[in-house]
Amino acid sequence: MSPFVFAPDAGVTLDVQGSDARFPVNRVFCLGRNYPWGDAQDAVRQAPMFFMKPASAVLQAGGELAYPPLTREFCHEIELVVAIGTGGGDIPESSALEHVWGYAAGLDLTRRDLQMAAKAAGQPWEAAKAFDGSAPIGAVVPVSRIGHPDRGAVWLQVNGVERQRSSLEQQIWSVSEIISRLSQSIALRPGDLIMTGTPPGVAALEPGDVISAGIDGIGELSVRVGARR
Ligand code: MN
Repeated sequence: MSPFVFAPDAGVTLDVQGSDARFPVNRVFCLGRNYPWGDAQDAVRQAPMFFMKPASAVLQAGGELAYPPLTREFCHEIELVVAIGTGGGDIPESSALEHVWGYAAGLDLTRRDLQMAAKAAGQPWEAAKAFDGSAPIGAVVPVSRIGHPDRGAVWLQVNGVERQRSSLEQQIWSVSEIISRLSQSIALRPGDLIMTGTPPGVAALEPGDVISAGIDGIGELSVRVGARR
């Protein structure tokens, strides 16, 4: 007899580039502002701001993405995704990269109208950030293949028109700093993903839009936005 009262969820996994093995996703942490946006640059180094998405929000990029409910301002954010392979708490910056299994390009999709309402009301961001399908992510590329990229273009196009372009050198918090700071707050676990913030140029998507995005040296992804329901 099954020890479970119903069948447990099989969990979410991501493709691994160059392998049939899969990367099992544990939790998804996201970093707030991590590139210069023109405004608010004075405050950016004070403290990194983290929020979360559920692992169930992650989907392998490619194919169609449902336009989410309850929004009229569904926005794209291209981000470097750090895939943790070795957990730990209070990780020093000097050894932080040893905890990284690989990297991917991903989208922190956002119901911007709900985020603005939450900010104005001093409420949490879950409704804006943690909805189903809010984290399409490309294949995870192992560190054993590409090392730890700290430069390279970060870009996103909608229907072939460029919306976002920056480079990893522009990141305010390095991957080592992000891992160290986050692990002071919670103990990281294998399979955790960290989405590291997006450059300027975020904008709304419409049904039928095709997103192409990537990070040079890491990978690309493409998704099509489905109809409003
Ligand atoms: Mn973001």
